[in-house]
Amino acid sequence: MHRTRSAAALLAALILLFSAAFAEESGLEVEEISIETLQEDPQAEAEETAGPEVFTPSHGSPWDHDLGSSYWTTPMDITDTEAVWNMLMEPITVVDLGNVKGRNFSQRTKMNIYMYKEPDENSKIVGEVTNLSQGLRVIEHLDNGWSLVECYSSSFANHPKTVISAWNILVSGYVESKYLTQVQPTDQLALVVDKLAQRLYVFVEGKMVAELLCSTGLVQKNNDGKYQPYNETRSGEFLVINMTGSLTSDRLICSYAMRFNAGDEIHEVPHAVDKRDGSFKYNSTEPSLGSKKSHGCIRVQRLSNPEGINMKWIYNRIRSKDLCGKVKIVIWEDWQGRQLPVPDPDTVLYYNPNKGQYYHSAEHCNMASKITFTPFLYSQLDEGDFAKLKPCNFCAPARRVADIEAVNAVYAPGGDHEELLNKLRQGYYDYLAE
Ligand SMILES: [Zn+2]
Repeated sequence: MHRTRSAAALLAALILLFSAAFAEESGLEVEEISIETLQEDPQAEAEETAGPEVFTPSHGSPWDHDLGSSYWTTPMDITDTEAVWNMLMEPITVVDLGNVKGRNFSQRTKMNIYMYKEPDENSKIVGEVTNLSQGLRVIEHLDNGWSLVECYSSSFANHPKTVISAWNILVSGYVESKYLTQVQPTDQLALVVDKLAQRLYVFVEGKMVAELLCSTGLVQKNNDGKYQPYNETRSGEFLVINMTGSLTSDRLICSYAMRFNAGDEIHEVPHAVDKRDGSFKYNSTEPSLGSKKSHGCIRVQRLSNPEGINMKWIYNRIRSKDLCGKVKIVIWEDWQGRQLPVPDPDTVLYYNPNKGQYYHSAEHCNMASKITFTPFLYSQLDEGDFAKLKPCNFCAPARRVADIEAVNAVYAPGGDHEELLNKLRQGYYDYLAE
């Protein structure tokens, strides 16, 4: 807040200087306005007290927000756990193509249908939706058998039927109403992935039980030197649809994998296997947790938090309780303009005064399970020896102010954190304008 005010004052001073210089040259008289007067401008005050813009997953949608607690219209604010829980427990509307001849269940979960510009399958295709797992926002059911829906288009490269390059773009279009069905998610587990925070939040029976480090997709070049825009993890709400178990990607092994949107998986941070002793090596992947890194999948920490929760725990809970097909996974889009909040200065953190190198979110942490850590305050984190501590990668403590400000600078309103991806999306926009 203070920062905003001084920036506004600086801007006001610059404007004054500029107008004074202009007036001198043109010979015009300028009424003298003091900076204090400008600072007390009631409109500026109102803007300051209004706080940052509230973002929802349907940010920028041409359709009015409804008042329900759906994924699409619930603010992306993890501190309001009650609102987030209500959103997680809302029924999810998915496409169900029914029994498709010659395709088993697994194959059907990788099929998609098109969203059309008009309620007519001869009109232009504007988006793609994955069968059985991808949630849709229903705007309107028409009398003619079609519905107007909205979602982040699930365009993948190599997808059996991908025809357009709508890489994770929020689009609305028409689908046949006969394919739409609602599924009630389980209250035994629900997951929220925030692409801005690069955190996975785990909910069980109304409570947030864990905050884990994760990595979502990063647009990067493939082996041919071409960019892969479809690496960007598609936002939206989905159902976990398949217990994959283990998969190999780029010669790395991804354990505890679960599929939720055609080819998108959520799994443990990948590891290599040491040829000499067979041990698992995480050193090429684990340090990236907390920032974008994957080819589109969601990598989750394997180190267990103070409550013993990690990717393995999530996987085993779904398998042991037979929850596959009922677990909702929500992915929040990192819209430009969204900002990470700075924690309350009185937030309690912990450390080991006896040569500890890390700071922690809990008194007891699996990094050193026998030690009872000593508390200190978030406001002290940049002072003296605390300034040397690194965030623990077991218990995911709050980021430092400087790290939060670095993320917020990239996502500042008016910027473009997806410059490369937006260039690659231009083909889709040109196609729409044809
Ligand atoms: Zn810790």
